Amino acid sequence: MLKNKYKSLLITILILLFLSIQIISAKKLPLSNIIITIDPGHGGRDPGTSYNSILEKDINLQIALQLEKKLINKGATVYMTRRSDVDLSSIYDSKKKRGDLYRRLLLIKENKSNLYISIHINWYGNANYHGAEVLYNQINKDNKLLAESIMKEFNNNLKSNRKIHTTDLYMYKNTTVPGVLVECGYLSNYQERNLLLTEDYQKKLSESITNGIINYFKLITKS
Ligand SMILES: [Zn+2]
Repeated sequence: MLKNKYKSLLITILILLFLSIQIISAKKLPLSNIIITIDPGHGGRDPGTSYNSILEKDINLQIALQLEKKLINKGATVYMTRRSDVDLSSIYDSKKKRGDLYRRLLLIKENKSNLYISIHINWYGNANYHGAEVLYNQINKDNKLLAESIMKEFNNNLKSNRKIHTTDLYMYKNTTVPGVLVECGYLSNYQERNLLLTEDYQKKLSESITNGIINYFKLITKS
């Protein structure tokens, strides 16, 4: 009997020890206690931009799923506005695109996100244009800081020659939650199109975005 008591006491102590180690290690991660909503652009009835059978919505989702893994590894709580090939419009929406974007905004707010990241792919008539870039709306003073922080990673790690821009698109001017629109590259550029389709490059993009987010939180906690 006494032996059993010692046994269960020992097991309880070991469980408590294990749990406290888990809590301590979780606290050390740079994005612990941070809630991030990832918004893979387009989906379902809305393919976004395209090149033959290559659709923006598919690449957006692939990059977003890579980004989700990286952010979770750094301790963040991550939500996605979509995890499959769907759009968020309802059968009752007279304007489907607006309904889709409106529900993405609602999710960002409902998730109590500390920030959101919209993932898109660019297109331009001049096929020489290439490089990942970040767009932001001035509704929130932190948006520019986040955009600069991610852009720096794209410039340094992906050799992007592009820079940040402002955007007045519906989605970005209608939420005060800090966030940016990431245009991961140009589908209209031959080399970049091929890169964007590879898992390796999708991982590199995700890593740059994650590092940019970590640096952003370091900057805002300092100021
Ligand atoms: Zn797009």
